[in-house]
Amino acid sequence: MDHPPNVDTRVDAVVIGAGIIGASSAYHLAAAGHTVTVLEARSGYAEGSSGRSFASVRSQWADDLSIDLSWNSIRTYQRFEEKHGIDVGYRPTGYLLLWDESVWARQLEAVALQRRHGVPVDVLDPAAAQRFVAFETHGVAGTTFGPQDGRIDPHIATGAFLELARGHGASVHFGSPVIAIDNDPDGAWLVHTAKGTVHAPHVVNAAGGWSAETAALAGISAPVVHSKRNVYASASGAIDRDIPMTCDMATGVYMRSDGDRLLFGLSNPRQTDGYDTEVDWDWLENLLTIGSERFPWLADLPLDSRACWAGTYENTPDAKPLIGPEPSRPGWIHACGFSGHGVMQAPEVGRLVAEQVTGGAITSLDVSSLGPERFVDGIHGLDMVI
Ligand SMILES: Cc1cc2nc3c(=O)[nH]c(=O)nc-3n(C[C@H](O)[C@H](O)[C@H](O)COP(=O)(O)OP(=O)(O)OC[C@H]3O[C@@H](n4cnc5c(N)ncnc54)[C@H](O)[C@@H]3O)c2cc1C
Repeated sequence: MDHPPNVDTRVDAVVIGAGIIGASSAYHLAAAGHTVTVLEARSGYAEGSSGRSFASVRSQWADDLSIDLSWNSIRTYQRFEEKHGIDVGYRPTGYLLLWDESVWARQLEAVALQRRHGVPVDVLDPAAAQRFVAFETHGVAGTTFGPQDGRIDPHIATGAFLELARGHGASVHFGSPVIAIDNDPDGAWLVHTAKGTVHAPHVVNAAGGWSAETAALAGISAPVVHSKRNVYASASGAIDRDIPMTCDMATGVYMRSDGDRLLFGLSNPRQTDGYDTEVDWDWLENLLTIGSERFPWLADLPLDSRACWAGTYENTPDAKPLIGPEPSRPGWIHACGFSGHGVMQAPEVGRLVAEQVTGGAITSLDVSSLGPERFVDGIHGLDMVI
């Protein structure tokens, strides 16, 4: 780990944040031949949302861009060990979604779209899906299962990206919060820490739920807020079968096995914004009431309170990421606001960040819908978020 006495340097790009997005961005930038400095406030990597994730990856989305971001990333995780010699914990443990009648027809259209992108996805009737997990079938019109979806280890993946970035010459500075940002007379960015200043034509804002604050240092708007999510864990030995990531889309209750434990959660729609990683025990009562209607056995599982945790999603107003250049400020690149999906999209986002720096534009995918311009006139239409 790099802990140099100061960070005074001139590079092509400074990356703010050593979560999974910043780490992937640093790797892709450095591998493309750019000089890179990563500045991280905390004493190590993945200490923000990335280290508190449910760690699931899925390619089952209902729009082209989200499918591309996730499926391309999953394929990168699949090939990571072969290409780089590091096992980032990708396991195709599957992702089962339970759909109710009101959305089933639309979901079948989404399956057709996913298959056109080459995503493997199975359509199963509720009885057939019982082989993965027992659930009450009342109200479930159908289920979809992504056999290549599953999980990774975000901590290992973040460390792997940083190690690879260093291998290409990047420097990574922990304990180095960015405290001020301005421009020199030529327009280059000056990114200040207590240990020194990094001069760079490009800044990648990958500060997760803190991205609004880091953007504000430069007078830029990035509407990202922290929103707490709780993960509850059963006692070890409470389950005797592997359960894929499973989400009851009608209620939002989700779960998966982790060894012989069950991990489960449910977003609280009344969660107040702000950084807070204290587990909400009152919310567990609501979750069990709602969740045991679909999964009656859930309420009987013994809990291990010490194995539960909470972290924060980094939400934008429309629950979609903020990716791409800030039009009014040359060289500023947003890579934040993944609203609970950053782990499954990080490899592809890092690739796009490098494309922006190398070629001055992102052309391999149309990410124009994820730019900052969309927040100027307000947001219309919020998709269901899991
Ligand atoms: C409970 C939970 C479950 C989740 N489940 C999933 C899931 O199943 N699948 C999935 O894909 N995603 C999931 N997510 C979301 C995922 O974890 C995030 O989208 C992802 O980790 C975001 O990564 P990031 O690098 O943008 O942010 P972070 O990991 O938060 O990294 C941002 C970094 O910026 C640093 N920073 C902040 N301010 C400064 C500053 N001024 N100077 C320098 N550094 C700074 C922070 O210290 C931090 O390390 C989950 C999140 C939570 C909390």
